[in-house]
Amino acid sequence: DHSFERLTMTDFSDEELQAIRTESERAYELDRAHVFHSWSAQAQLSPMVISRAQGSYVFDGEGKKYLDFASQLVNTNVGHQHPTVVQAIKDQADLICTINPAHVNAARSEAARLICELTPEGLDHVFFTNGGADANEHAIRMARLHTGRRKVLSRYRSYHGGTQTAVNVTGDPRRFANDHGDAGVVHFFGPFLYRSEFDATTEAEETERALRHLERTIQLEGPQTIAAIILESIPGTAGIMVPSAEYMQGVRRLCDEYGLVFIADEVMAGFGRAGRWFAFEHFDIVPDIITFAKGVNSGYVPLGGVIMNDAIYSDFTERAYPGGLTYSGHPLACAAAVATINAMRDEGMIANAAKLGEEIVGPRLAEFSEKFPNVGETRGVGMFWALELVRDKATREPLAPYGGGSAEVSEIVGKLKAGGVLPFNNYHRLHIVPPLNVTADELNAGLDVFEQVLSEANYS
Ligand code: PLP
Repeated sequence: DHSFERLTMTDFSDEELQAIRTESERAYELDRAHVFHSWSAQAQLSPMVISRAQGSYVFDGEGKKYLDFASQLVNTNVGHQHPTVVQAIKDQADLICTINPAHVNAARSEAARLICELTPEGLDHVFFTNGGADANEHAIRMARLHTGRRKVLSRYRSYHGGTQTAVNVTGDPRRFANDHGDAGVVHFFGPFLYRSEFDATTEAEETERALRHLERTIQLEGPQTIAAIILESIPGTAGIMVPSAEYMQGVRRLCDEYGLVFIADEVMAGFGRAGRWFAFEHFDIVPDIITFAKGVNSGYVPLGGVIMNDAIYSDFTERAYPGGLTYSGHPLACAAAVATINAMRDEGMIANAAKLGEEIVGPRLAEFSEKFPNVGETRGVGMFWALELVRDKATREPLAPYGGGSAEVSEIVGKLKAGGVLPFNNYHRLHIVPPLNVTADELNAGLDVFEQVLSEANYS
């Protein structure tokens, strides 16, 4: 049953509904009175209340049910309220809620062991942070200390976080208001055939030209001044452009040749999102540093981290690493990570994401692109998919400007929500990024809503 009705029906009794509505109304008023929101003009906001959540679903302030095709901010990889993760947090809370990071704690030790079990050989040490941005800050600091160099190369069309250095290495328009010339960041074009900066017409050409461009950038910037290249293994917020294995292997070669640290940002793409534990596994490469957050514990408690190779680790065996965080390896967050990783493994969630992505999401999105005038390229892997809304398929003109929104995109997003699906929307793109344990029925139901809404779109 893939009808709108099934998606929008409510799961609550009348009394429960009344309680949810009363609580949500008050929450909304207090939010608008006192809560300052990210990336927003505060007076123009009318944020959605999320009152309850379960599995692939969230409920709004009216008790209306939505399929969470955004996994909130692409982090609830095991779905909402996964019972073993919730229980692990409760159990840990009963034992001990917080410790000084200088002490040892069983939850943190076990999380580190499990994480290092997933990484390639030689990447055996984790520095825990509170999220993705600070993981990237510390990765860059480590690379600078390791090389004695300052510059960092990063691609346009990337997102690395909202803190000072992380937002400066970010390649999308969110960095503009925070740009500082002293950050030592140089941006380059990555491969993106659909919107090629190199006039390429094949993936092989795009790969070859993007690598040549990167090597020239390194040479002209002075390799002796460059500490690292930071790259999302698959750029997420910037559009889910899956690079070729040859490109990523080429970047690895350039890092080796010029002595640069290869930082793979796996904050969004990692922990199963791309149908592998880490997205870089698709490309048969081994980075020097991996940063992670989000999916590591499904975001139930804030957690991120830096996994470094032995060469970088050994820099700090005899001299102190100059950096730390009060909540590094927080017990509640680490307990949630242990339970999340075990749940993903025990329940085969990553295989599920890879299979349903390939069998359902990919083919259905490709069909939308064939049938509907405002759907351009669709692409992705695992439970990590993007759909480009375009004004004109021939020119590929986006339906909203780079860095902005448009009435047309808002209308489409509004209709999706009315149909009971929460998409992830960035500029002119819709991303389909549900939990990794989403079912085939849930996927088809949500994509039926997409199909209905996109079939009605005819903008020019
Ligand atoms: N890196 C990537 C690839 C991300 O997608 C994000 C967040 O979306 C970050 C870093 C920043 O993570 P956080 O918001 O946890 O600081």
